[in-house]
Amino acid sequence: MPRPRHLLASPFPSALLLPALLLLAACTAAPAPTTAAPAVAAAAPAAVPYGDALHWARSSAEHEAVYLQTYRLAAERLRLRVEGLQPFTWAVSVDADETLLDNSLFEVEQHRAGTSYDEGAFSAWVRRGQAAALPGARDFLETVRGLGGKVAVVTNRSQAVCPETEANIRALRLPVDVVLCKPLEGPSDKAPRWQAIEQGRASKYLPPLDIVMWLGDNIQDFPTGSQAWRNAPPEQFGRFGDAWFLFPNPVYGSWQRNPQQ
Ligand SMILES: [Mg+2]
Repeated sequence: MPRPRHLLASPFPSALLLPALLLLAACTAAPAPTTAAPAVAAAAPAAVPYGDALHWARSSAEHEAVYLQTYRLAAERLRLRVEGLQPFTWAVSVDADETLLDNSLFEVEQHRAGTSYDEGAFSAWVRRGQAAALPGARDFLETVRGLGGKVAVVTNRSQAVCPETEANIRALRLPVDVVLCKPLEGPSDKAPRWQAIEQGRASKYLPPLDIVMWLGDNIQDFPTGSQAWRNAPPEQFGRFGDAWFLFPNPVYGSWQRNPQQ
């Protein structure tokens, strides 16, 4: 790995040359200026490179492609799944972070500050409203709406920052009907919120809705989804690419608690 330039050896006069250079400098020195020279700006500290996972998420063509690909395939599949369904009787469940919203700038800032994730820092980031929309997200949500569906964002962001999350989503012009954050006292398990959508308790503006599709970047964004599935047979994953669509997240997730194999 190349070393940073400031760590490389630089040309330097040898001990023998130094007296001669000093004498030459004294002979050719310009008169002292009558005004103070401007201070030389201190060199900015060299940026510490972040890891490959965040590098991939921030800077790769593959990241762009896989989001566009997944959202396009989900839209195609959705058209088939909702054929014959009455408008406004069904919904799609979409996770927020790293599904609709790109928080990679927060990750970069955490890295540069030398700190690891904590909820307070993340809440401060959410309040800034600077999360960007991920590629393909808006087109997909507009397709859902165009087909007569409702969009429910089901996220484990805390209730404390739910209004700011809604504001960020609105500012990005993402068409969304309801945002369900993690209950203050409740579990992070999303199943009760999916049940509320299906029973018409998610919002006073929404009737009971059949959820026909789930999208997320964490296995737990899907009903009964669990890291225990990592050793399951392919049949366990039969709904992926049909009603379930997963985005890769090598930066963080419930997978981090799994033992390495
Ligand atoms: Mg997520």
